[in-house]
Amino acid sequence: MTHDQTANQPSQPQRSDAEWRAILADKNAEPVAFEVTRHAATERPFTGKYNRVWDDGSYHCICCGALLFDASTKFDAGCGWPSFSEAVPGAIREIVDRSHGMVRTETVCASCDAHLGHVFPDGPAPTGLRYCMNSASLDFEPKG
Ligand SMILES: [Zn+2]
Repeated sequence: MTHDQTANQPSQPQRSDAEWRAILADKNAEPVAFEVTRHAATERPFTGKYNRVWDDGSYHCICCGALLFDASTKFDAGCGWPSFSEAVPGAIREIVDRSHGMVRTETVCASCDAHLGHVFPDGPAPTGLRYCMNSASLDFEPKG
């Protein structure tokens, strides 16, 4: 099996809503985490626990633990959600999102399909990207 053949398929098994609720409860995820990750809800701006965190470390998928972002790529976009200029290669899958009368690029975890947020083309150099994420979708692991 080559990597290309699996590129568009989540590697994790499909789980029911009840299973995801139990997994998120086990991880002490935020109360909104289920709606955000499994039903593409958006946490209210400036409410997420990682919006103002600038410590060294790494950000993982709250659902499956996959590494998504290094903290060195996090920047202050002032938008009220944790923002990153670069994702770990292959960690994130992009989907065109035409909801709410806009065309945006949704981002999901490539491993388990958890909704993470959206990516916009207005970030800092060199990538020019802003991965606008929900804190509730992320699990921060401090360095060391
Ligand atoms: Zn995941």
